[in-house]
Amino acid sequence: MESPMHPAQMVSVRPVRKTAAKPPVGMVLLFGLPGAGKGTQAKELSKMWGVPHISTGDLLRINVAHMTPLGRAVKNIMDRGELVPDSLMKEMVEARLQKSDTARGCILDGFPRTLDQASWLIERLTTLRVSFPIFAVRIHLSRNQLLRRITGRRHCSLCQTTFNIYENPPKREGFCDLDNTALSQRPDDTEAIVKKRFELDAALTAPVIEYFRTRTQFIEVAGDGPVGSITARILAAVDRLSLVQA
Ligand code: AMP
Repeated sequence: MESPMHPAQMVSVRPVRKTAAKPPVGMVLLFGLPGAGKGTQAKELSKMWGVPHISTGDLLRINVAHMTPLGRAVKNIMDRGELVPDSLMKEMVEARLQKSDTARGCILDGFPRTLDQASWLIERLTTLRVSFPIFAVRIHLSRNQLLRRITGRRHCSLCQTTFNIYENPPKREGFCDLDNTALSQRPDDTEAIVKKRFELDAALTAPVIEYFRTRTQFIEVAGDGPVGSITARILAAVDRLSLVQA
């Protein structure tokens, strides 16, 4: 499934510097339908590579929770399962990418989701002549598996632990194992909204995946099985592509 691209088809980036004290690591753009495990894999890769995990969904939810002007502008859009306008997304991501912790790369989770966001990102990275490699990773899982995963998700608002009532239930139904806080469901994790998010994804994000297939190093992995084996699949593909590029 993982098909190495010819270097000429990749984004024009400087090769990895081998002598720097803290060498550039890389940027991963994670794709997959809601529930495919992007967030979980992003956290794993972020820990391993020592680069930040940037989840646009999380950034937006923080803004909603704090009732910032951005949060107020996007709350209803998110609750309906629709996409936030590109202009707001680009502004928010630009502000985050400006922070110095992204100098060695980052794991982008949930962005880009439209062709406009994708071309903006590639243009930005090309203009900046970033010195790390870029990998687009698509995690694939069937819609039925995804639906079960998402509608079963429950969150602890205090410690942010996520449970799943089918696959990883809390010991006491409805309450967090760690701090006993009542668990909640994201408003956009209901079946009707999830189906809408799938449709939007097919219409808007599928073309983005095609866009990256020909412009960056593209990796496709199956999203079933234990978390560790999915991470291992991604890292093996990254290694193979890095060898091709070297
Ligand atoms: P997520 O947690 O990634 O599933 O995102 C939750 C919601 O945040 C989405 O359903 C959208 O409403 C919004 N969102 C997150 N990332 C983006 C993006 N790149 N473009 C537009 N809307 C987004």
